[in-house]
Amino acid sequence: MIWAMRPIVIAANWKMNTTPADAGELARAIAGRTREPDVVRVICPPFVCLAAVRDAVAGEGIGVGAQNVHGELAGAHTGEVSAPMLAGLATWVILGHSERRRDAGETDEIIGRKLRRAVDGGLRPILCVGEQLAEREGGRAEEVVATQLRGALEGHDPAELARAGLVIAYEPVWAIGTGRNASGADAGAMAEAIRRVLRAAGWGTLAEATPVLYGGSATSANIAEFLAEPAVDGALVGGASLKPDEMAGIVARAAVTAAARRAAAG
Ligand code: PEP
Repeated sequence: MIWAMRPIVIAANWKMNTTPADAGELARAIAGRTREPDVVRVICPPFVCLAAVRDAVAGEGIGVGAQNVHGELAGAHTGEVSAPMLAGLATWVILGHSERRRDAGETDEIIGRKLRRAVDGGLRPILCVGEQLAEREGGRAEEVVATQLRGALEGHDPAELARAGLVIAYEPVWAIGTGRNASGADAGAMAEAIRRVLRAAGWGTLAEATPVLYGGSATSANIAEFLAEPAVDGALVGGASLKPDEMAGIVARAAVTAAARRAAAG
């Protein structure tokens, strides 16, 4: 799929929270409070809660995503989950989240292999990139993000990734789960830098068509600052996505942006 106008996407990353017993109820509560047809809503629960969330949001127009996928299709990888195993459970997948880079030692090369499996498996990837605090303070944020992007995207066909609906999430590591968000201006500047990297890699007009989200302590109180940036197309939301009130506020604000962009596009 190649979007004519970039969609506004609000994706919930539940991380290692919820159980199969309570995930459905939370998903239903979020679905019931976020019915905005112009906003692409996605919920990414733990693997074991995918079926419960899928069933809970059936008919609601909400995408269900995994938080990771393995770089191989099958084999001796104890405890891992491959793309084919997600058939019927998920249609999206988060890749390269900084917590996986930190906890599981995921490199850009590994993430690139996961991207291949995701695309082949019909999963819409949300590829996460972002710098550490010292890298931002050292003036190297754009360079770090560019390196991550080039590493993960190497060898991939831009048209194929665009058809798969690739979404890029800019998530400064120092803002994730810390309550300290980046500024809207910094997020907007990084979203533009990300598209410059894509253009330099030969993506042409597909760079402009690729949604870029912000992630890092996004809440209903600060989402407007990010959505005011024309280059930012939504948010990957962690902690706040476990609260239906927060999701209601975030998606309601996203709907305002979606309507405004639609009107501006004519
Ligand atoms: C995330 O997990 O991708 C995230 C952005 O988390 P939080 O919103 O809690 O910072």
